[in-house]
Amino acid sequence: MKALLVSPPASGVRLGEAPEPSAGPGELKVRLLECGICGTDRDIVAGKYGTPPPGRTDLILGHENLGRVVEVGAQVPDFRVGDLVVATVRRGCGICRYCRANRSDFCETGLFTERGIKARDGYLTEFYVEQPEYVVHVPRAHRLSAVLLEPLSVVEKAVAEGRRVLGRLGPAPPGTDAGPSAPTALVTGTGAVGMLAALVLAAEGFSVTAIDRHDDRTPAARLLAQVGVAHVDVSAGLSALKGRTFDLIVEASGSPSLDVALIGLLPPNGALVLTGIPPEGPVPGSGLDGGVFRSVVLGNRAIVGSVNANRRHFESGLRHLTAFRTRWGTLAEQLVSRRLPLGSYSDALGGKAEGTIKTVLTLSD
Ligand SMILES: [Zn+2]
Ligand SMILES: [Zn+2]
Repeated sequence: MKALLVSPPASGVRLGEAPEPSAGPGELKVRLLECGICGTDRDIVAGKYGTPPPGRTDLILGHENLGRVVEVGAQVPDFRVGDLVVATVRRGCGICRYCRANRSDFCETGLFTERGIKARDGYLTEFYVEQPEYVVHVPRAHRLSAVLLEPLSVVEKAVAEGRRVLGRLGPAPPGTDAGPSAPTALVTGTGAVGMLAALVLAAEGFSVTAIDRHDDRTPAARLLAQVGVAHVDVSAGLSALKGRTFDLIVEASGSPSLDVALIGLLPPNGALVLTGIPPEGPVPGSGLDGGVFRSVVLGNRAIVGSVNANRRHFESGLRHLTAFRTRWGTLAEQLVSRRLPLGSYSDALGGKAEGTIKTVLTLSD
């Protein structure tokens, strides 16, 4: 079968062949319909990231998957040929208590694997085989948006972690009112993760602001306007936010200098959730001041790392896709702004085209 192959740590990507798998007992065989492309894929192609499976030099790329079941092995209840499905990405280390409880997003050993990223083949190919515990059913109504479920699962976890931190305050103390009407949230970046975070937070009742380095004429800004999310162009700096603070900030840029600046936008008891993975090394031109961290401690501000997601985040993502559809019609589908055939992989992986929110490679109908 055709497969998009990389050989990390060497850079580059090529369309090659891989043996077609078949479903054993207790397994599902799935034909890929489409696969989203993100910064992680581009980093792997650039040779910055990624590990082939043991004993191999190549790795099938791709983790943001959507497929259709073509074969159901013996002893697999609950799945039928023709079902639309999304598979999770991380597989547990089998050692630590969280992995053994199918919560590998909190793995303690770091010995987990990830499909399309670390030591396990991904989904930019024609078929995969998987155990049903790692596969999520998708209602047909979400055929055109479900390729977003994997990045949405990452957002679901980040927002859930942030809300858990905000929730540490409990109900308003007796004799005080509940406080200002809606809690405020800031989302940095209007790529797929930022846009999905904006939608989830808006659906959860936050008053949401999204920042990027573009004016209001981009497709992202127009979609944000439709859902009542304020868009602010910060190409001239965060001063465009006019000193406002935000109870919950979801960061998705991976820029350490922005991370530092975002701490200054938290009110007391506010939470900053970082999801972007910054490069190692000194923070360029930060002029980092210890007072920043002092304010984190004295203000009970929280900075929460969040990476990957588990099955329940995929499931809550599906509930949100339904909520988005009820509230905003096909808006989530419009986040997939570019669909290309597999043969156009160089275009898709070459870089983020101007005005594109999510690029998807299609593998079959
Ligand atoms: Zn991704
Ligand atoms: Zn583990």
